[in-house]
Amino acid sequence: MLLTHGGETAPDAPVLRTGGVPLVPEGFVWPTCRNCDGALQFLAHLPVDGGAVAVFFCQNDPGMCDDWDAGSGGNRAYLFSAPLTPAEVPAEGETLLGAVTALRPRPDDTATAAPVLGRLGGEPDWLQNDETPSCPSCAAPMAFTAELEEGHDHTTSANFGGGGLGYIFVCRPCERAAFLWQR
Ligand SMILES: [Zn+2]
Ligand SMILES: [Zn+2]
Repeated sequence: MLLTHGGETAPDAPVLRTGGVPLVPEGFVWPTCRNCDGALQFLAHLPVDGGAVAVFFCQNDPGMCDDWDAGSGGNRAYLFSAPLTPAEVPAEGETLLGAVTALRPRPDDTATAAPVLGRLGGEPDWLQNDETPSCPSCAAPMAFTAELEEGHDHTTSANFGGGGLGYIFVCRPCERAAFLWQR
């Protein structure tokens, strides 16, 4: 399935979106960057059966915190189980994107005028080498779930180095998720 631009949506909408606020379980603590200690930026909410994936990456000092790497602590991805409620956003740091954008899944063969903003399922379109992460709990290769483009409007888009792609992976048995980006 392609993901196409679905217009603006509410910051706490329980739909596939980039931007807005994360929907989180009780006791959630907003993640910080292992490199700069700043609060991470919330990038995407991706509903899955029984819960959602939440993706964060560091934008406090772009390019300095290895936010492209799945394992270096410059980003975080979670696989949360319902019930989920909107998180409290930290007062400090580059925590939110400039816009809340719904991503609408469409079959690949559907003609659409809406800009394509990613892909759901299938195979990742690697821009560099295959960097499928291993699950931090069971060490098995994680399952590709979605990829995201930066978006076309530079004031509101994610920062994947200029023309990059972000990749979201999960391990359902371990309830883990991972994120990385390439350009
Ligand atoms: Zn950082
Ligand atoms: Zn696992």
